[in-house]
Amino acid sequence: AARQEENADYLFYTKAMEAEAEERDMLERELRLALENDQLQVYYQPKIDLSTGHIRGMEALIRWIHPDLGFISPAKFIPIAEETGQIITIGEWVLRRSCYDTQNWINQGASRHLKVAVNLSGRQLDEEKLPQTIQDILEETGLHPTNLELEVTESSLMRDIDQGMRILKSLRDLGITTAIDDFGTGYSSLSYLRRIPLDTLKIDQSFVRNLHVDPDDAAIARTIMDMADNMGLTVVAEGIEIEEHETFLQSIHCHIGQGYYYSKPVPPAEFDKLLTTFSPPKSLNNRRTGEDR
Ligand code: C2E
Ligand code: MG
Ligand code: MG
Ligand code: MG
Repeated sequence: AARQEENADYLFYTKAMEAEAEERDMLERELRLALENDQLQVYYQPKIDLSTGHIRGMEALIRWIHPDLGFISPAKFIPIAEETGQIITIGEWVLRRSCYDTQNWINQGASRHLKVAVNLSGRQLDEEKLPQTIQDILEETGLHPTNLELEVTESSLMRDIDQGMRILKSLRDLGITTAIDDFGTGYSSLSYLRRIPLDTLKIDQSFVRNLHVDPDDAAIARTIMDMADNMGLTVVAEGIEIEEHETFLQSIHCHIGQGYYYSKPVPPAEFDKLLTTFSPPKSLNNRRTGEDR
């Protein structure tokens, strides 16, 4: 009977794996058409200055809205695009779109300091010509390099640390700022961190989620903050969902906050409105510690 059960389990898992592989192939095929057929969009989520309550910038987040399948999460299709190499074309498209939109908003009166952050996958860092591609996009759209930030995860950087650092260095030489995304979830040693050409650390949302109840997470956030201050880095906390998160992060003087508490990622037309109408939650206003820098 045990044997039969094992067999059944085996069949079950093989079937499940087959179904997964099939879905993968299907998504890969559909993704090829997505760009041509205008199914991809860039949404923007504001990043809030925790000392002034103003929008300092935004993160560009890709969205795929498929006519039949509906919304497909980037967590699902980005890994496929990375594996197939489609991420190179898609990533370039996101960069161009984001730079274009941001320059547009600046032209229409948004702050000259408005900074758009774009996610880069490890695969893009392998491309020797990435800095040139980005420089071309900046020239094309008229966006100043200091208005662009690039977010990379520790793990994508660690795939080939020498190559990654070289690319980050040439990007920074252009005047672009760089951020480590999901910070704290990877394995980068502190000695590496010191050598990476870096401006910003983004505290991963897994540490933010329970900040207000879990002393360990609070200690991690505090430690990241101390370290960043010593290294002259800006800290962004992602995944701020409730007032308690904000309260704690403000108490440790975290610079920038991002999360549903302020706004979900929204389509460009909505972000355009946010730029002129956004007012921070009362909680932030009442605790404001400083003015615009
Ligand atoms: P990420 O770069 O760490 O982006 C933050 C994710 O957290 C986004 O998920 C965002 O919608 C979500 N988020 C923001 N605030 C909150 C909050 O308060 N609570 C919770 N629970 N979540 C929040 P999203 O848009 O689904 O993207 C997932 C990941 O997909 C991103 O993680 C990033 O790694 C990747 N991704 C998204 N767009 C791009 C892109 O254009 N290029 C590349 N290479 N990767 C992308
Ligand atoms: Mg990111
Ligand atoms: Mg992140
Ligand atoms: Mg993430």
